[in-house]
Amino acid sequence: MNVKCKNCLPEEGIEIPELSLSEKKRILELKLQSPIYSVKYLIDFCGLSHMEAKYIVTHVNRTYGLCNRCNFDKLDKEYMICPKCESLNFNWKC
Ligand SMILES: [Zn+2]
Ligand SMILES: [Zn+2]
Repeated sequence: MNVKCKNCLPEEGIEIPELSLSEKKRILELKLQSPIYSVKYLIDFCGLSHMEAKYIVTHVNRTYGLCNRCNFDKLDKEYMICPKCESLNFNWKC
């Protein structure tokens, strides 16, 4: 599945890798400690490029349902564009 964000490069977006629930949990956990750890995890354990890893970490929501860019808090799909600020969200439920 390809996702795009009009606020971010690359313009063509990226392909989301297959991630298990435990990987998503780990990525989120690490992001809360430091986004750098989270990026490193995706590169080392999921085989992503630095660009892809950074792109994903930037868009992962800290809180389920809450947009990572504005205060909209009714996001209800796993990968969705915020209706308020049009930013891409990885709205993982974990
Ligand atoms: Zn973005
Ligand atoms: Zn938003």
